[in-house]
Amino acid sequence: MPPAIICSVLLNTGIHLQVDSHLREVLIWRGRPSLGEPKQMKAAVFSSTHTQPQLFLHVEDVPRPRLEAGHLLLRVVACGVCRTDLHIVEGDLPPLRPRLTPGHQIVGEVIEGATLELPAGTRVGVSWMGGVDGDCPYCRRGMENLCDKPTFTGYTVDGGYAEYVLVRADFVFRLPPGLDDAHVAPLLCAGIIGFRSLRIAGVEKGERVGLFGFGSSASLAIAILQSWKCEVYVVTRGESHRKRAASLGATWVGKEDEMPPVTLDRAITFAPSGKVVVSALASLRKGGVVAINAIHLDHMPAFDYDKLLWGERQIRSVANMTRQDARDFLRIAHDLHIRPNTTIFALDDANKALLAVKEETEQGSVVIVP
Ligand SMILES: [Zn+2]
Ligand SMILES: [Zn+2]
Repeated sequence: MPPAIICSVLLNTGIHLQVDSHLREVLIWRGRPSLGEPKQMKAAVFSSTHTQPQLFLHVEDVPRPRLEAGHLLLRVVACGVCRTDLHIVEGDLPPLRPRLTPGHQIVGEVIEGATLELPAGTRVGVSWMGGVDGDCPYCRRGMENLCDKPTFTGYTVDGGYAEYVLVRADFVFRLPPGLDDAHVAPLLCAGIIGFRSLRIAGVEKGERVGLFGFGSSASLAIAILQSWKCEVYVVTRGESHRKRAASLGATWVGKEDEMPPVTLDRAITFAPSGKVVVSALASLRKGGVVAINAIHLDHMPAFDYDKLLWGERQIRSVANMTRQDARDFLRIAHDLHIRPNTTIFALDDANKALLAVKEETEQGSVVIVP
């Protein structure tokens, strides 16, 4: 259960006290909202009325966000590019605001709103879940990933394709040491949600697991599967992705129209394609599970229930993540020395970064460094 803030007191000293609903924690927040004219910053902005294909974002000067109670102002040092960002700017996910700065794999340094736990200068990570209400039926059941009133970083609020970002203080994560900013950024959605997908699929040690699609998320999940002594079968469209899967030690690698040579215990699909989900289902043993690691699918084709789903096979979606998923994955990533392959783009080249994800031209993860 996340600690819902039940008391927040603003003293005229500029010190804020916050007490969580279980009285476990008192946060002292010394920030003071910025006064006067806001400073400017550079950000890549998506307009819901944009019409030019492939020029999704406009890099411009915008007001720097002002600190709010319970939040941190971060200086962004790196922000990973996720396929969900592409779904947002291509309209697969409906626009919720007329103007939006995407980006939800943010590595930043605390510059305002520092607490005793998170002093100024602390390096933290921010992911897709930017906040929850803490008291809806799902939050009460410990399923905050399904919250009825969620905040999604870079979708319902501005994200990290910018020089600064305002984030909820209780939705940041301390980052493992030993990885630089550009290499830790892709862990923050691709890594966490890939890890959650393994949990949703119910992967057990030593099983045969199929990864359908091999972008950023799958290329991080494979390290965990190997540490669990699983055999990993990869089916993916792009040649560079097949090479990457082979170089990372996949047991078998095939093209999108090929079937793994064995029946699988579990499969995770990463491509935003319903056809791929059906292929994954067709590869499963009885009782096997397909977990869909995609926020959007083109469409689900009809399939033969008797042949493909009968036998207690399951199809499950993977929706968002919990803070516990994030903490668990970041610890595992540190222990396993997971180091993503990354390609870096400048903030001015944010459109090129999105195209690289769309066209699958890079092996591994794409990161914007402002
Ligand atoms: Zn909730
Ligand atoms: Zn994402």
